Amino acid sequence: MLKAIYPGSFDPVTYGHIDIIRRSSKLVDELIVGVLNNNAKSPLFSVEERVKMLEEVTKDVPKVRIVPFEGLLVDFARQMDARMVVRGLRAITDFEYELQMAQTNHKLEEELETVFLTTALEYSYLSSTIVKEVASFGGDISQFVPELVMDRIFEKISKKGECK
Ligand code: ADP
Repeated sequence: MLKAIYPGSFDPVTYGHIDIIRRSSKLVDELIVGVLNNNAKSPLFSVEERVKMLEEVTKDVPKVRIVPFEGLLVDFARQMDARMVVRGLRAITDFEYELQMAQTNHKLEEELETVFLTTALEYSYLSSTIVKEVASFGGDISQFVPELVMDRIFEKISKKGECK
């Protein structure tokens, strides 16, 4: 049984992530989407909120499980009994960091292989950071994220505004 992990922050999930989830889930028996709980990054959404959104937007995709994690990816992979890591590559700018991560993880755990899927052309510019930036200025993000995610981003931003 081939189990893979697709790790990331998913703060929040975009159509770019969903495309990678759909495509990679067809290649494996089980795809675990690992949601990184990293408070140092001060995310817009809590890990619980990110997990919930991912569950909702992938509910029609078979073989997918959403699991939060902390710490090293190699430890999480071991815990999940997964031998493959999936990452998305958007542009050459992603490459250097991704190569370094993949090689480090391979050094830490020889049995763990990283597999890259190239982004779908229509999402090659898309990142969670860009979505949050556009939303913070009241821009239209409906092409970037599903409606339920869009609603939660604006809800979150308006709450943050009230706190200021
Ligand atoms: P990070 O792990 O750096 O916090 P993200 O959570 O945003 O990044 O992304 C997780 C993974 O999804 C990474 O492999 C990233 O390259 C990939 N990814 C993000 N956006 C897209 C996109 N638009 N198309 C393809 N892959 C993407």
